[in-house]
Amino acid sequence: MIVLAQTGRKVLPGEEVAIAEEYMSGEGTYEQDGKIYASAVGELDLDPKEKLVKVVLDNPPIVLSEGDVILGEITDAKPAMAIVNIVAQEGRDRAVSSETLASIHVSKLSSSYVEDSGDVMRPGDIIRATVIQAEPSVQLSTAGPHFGVVRALCGRCRSPLEKKGRSLYCEKCDRSENRKLADDYRSFVE
Ligand SMILES: [Zn+2]
Repeated sequence: MIVLAQTGRKVLPGEEVAIAEEYMSGEGTYEQDGKIYASAVGELDLDPKEKLVKVVLDNPPIVLSEGDVILGEITDAKPAMAIVNIVAQEGRDRAVSSETLASIHVSKLSSSYVEDSGDVMRPGDIIRATVIQAEPSVQLSTAGPHFGVVRALCGRCRSPLEKKGRSLYCEKCDRSENRKLADDYRSFVE
């Protein structure tokens, strides 16, 4: 008998990993004409006891849940809410690939009163937020000192803004902008 592959080996989509006579096709694999193939890039997992073959994905999508801390980019700042494209879950080096769009209601932007989300967030800002609702749509909050904008560019010249007192300042344009800042603005390292 020819051993096609071994557990722990990296496989590519379309690669033959087992024979259907010996193994059942599990997650990350498919069966065709009596053979089992990988359907994703990942690590092969052959379980001879269960007679099951799986491919453990290299980059499984992150499923967000309540309380998760995410990093995202503001794509729109409407009066009632800011729209966020979630780019990563903090502390994990994987991209969020499932539901990436989220929103922050104007009342969840800060613990103090905000009239219009555009007063404290602008498109292009990078923010840190907590997930307060994961289903059916992702809702975020930036209330609390560690949440809010971690990086922002000048609305006029697109230079990175520096923190000056409680607001942000562009040296080039000699003008200030307001944001709801995270406590580690600009010292934040991705
Ligand atoms: Zn500027």
